[in-house]
Amino acid sequence: MSQPFNLVALPYAPEALEPVISSQTLAFHHGKHLAGYVNNLNALLPESKWAGLTLEEIVVKAEGPILNNAGQILNHNLYFSQFCAPKAENQPVGQLAAAITRDFGTFADFQSEFQKKGTTLFGSGWVWLSATADGHLVITQEPNAANPLQRGLKPLLTFDVWEHAYYLDYQNRRPDHLAALWQIIDWNVIEQRYLQ
Ligand code: MN
Repeated sequence: MSQPFNLVALPYAPEALEPVISSQTLAFHHGKHLAGYVNNLNALLPESKWAGLTLEEIVVKAEGPILNNAGQILNHNLYFSQFCAPKAENQPVGQLAAAITRDFGTFADFQSEFQKKGTTLFGSGWVWLSATADGHLVITQEPNAANPLQRGLKPLLTFDVWEHAYYLDYQNRRPDHLAALWQIIDWNVIEQRYLQ
């Protein structure tokens, strides 16, 4: 992705994630919040020393408002592209499933740890599953617009815990929102990120 940056298209219909994420939440989250970060960054970049860099390069190197807006774009691009229509028994696949079992015990143990880190992140931010350079899996809490790339990790899966991600559908019930998100994770997408 090169400058100026575009608002990514959603790879599903606006109502496809209901009832886990409503079309109204998607309309605001994607069409207003993410679009705002894209517009902000495109306005800030041309006069900056970060002009011409990729989004990932900006997230690793920049600072201040340019970093904040670029981080939010990268985070939301990964977030919105990881979902599919709800499935009752939704499980990781392939080599990623094996790595989750190796590094966390059972899939349920992994879900529990991931949800706990999402629930206990104070304020706004993101909980991430990432891979280390040698292929091990780690869960991290990142505040505000931070991304695991800044720690040298490869980001795989993320839950957005900013209130704008869930307030219309769940009000203050962040744990209920996080628990519901497991139904709409497209594990093929996450495994492809792991194998890249
Ligand atoms: Mn968000």
